[in-house]
Amino acid sequence: MTTRIVRLLAVAVVSVSLILVSTACRIGDVSRSLVDTSDNGSLPDEGVTVDSSSAAITRLDPDLLDALRRAVADARSQNIDIRITSGWRSRDFQQSLFADAVGTYGSEDAASRFVASPDKSKHVTGEAVDVGPTDAMDWMSRNGSDYGLCQIFANELWHYELVADDGCPDLLPDASAL
Ligand SMILES: [Zn+2]
Repeated sequence: MTTRIVRLLAVAVVSVSLILVSTACRIGDVSRSLVDTSDNGSLPDEGVTVDSSSAAITRLDPDLLDALRRAVADARSQNIDIRITSGWRSRDFQQSLFADAVGTYGSEDAASRFVASPDKSKHVTGEAVDVGPTDAMDWMSRNGSDYGLCQIFANELWHYELVADDGCPDLLPDASAL
């Protein structure tokens, strides 16, 4: 009798453990898919397509992403492949890019001409993309405004933002003008 109770208890303990383990795994999967904290928005040098599942693309402002998808499709029909070399960036990633630029250019003032601080960068809010390669930048400079996609800085031929108003604004000399 005692042996049987022990055996039943053992089975019960194992069953409960298995349920707990499988539940923990499922919770882990769900939280991983909701917030992938390992993806800070960095992309390979050659960039990705607009259909990439990288956070750099999926965390873009939906209206910007929609305009970009339409532009990419039309460019493709003219044999131009637009690659996205940067999109959404985490605040920490933008901070590290800015810190690198301060190291390179010697001061925050000098660095801000080339890299916006996390407080000012439209990449952190998902409202900017960088495109490439050269023929894609050229296509965008001629056609981007048809989709509301505008170059913002004279010294960043690759950087585009969605501008809702009619036409694109005059270029700012560089990001330090923000
Ligand atoms: Zn940019």
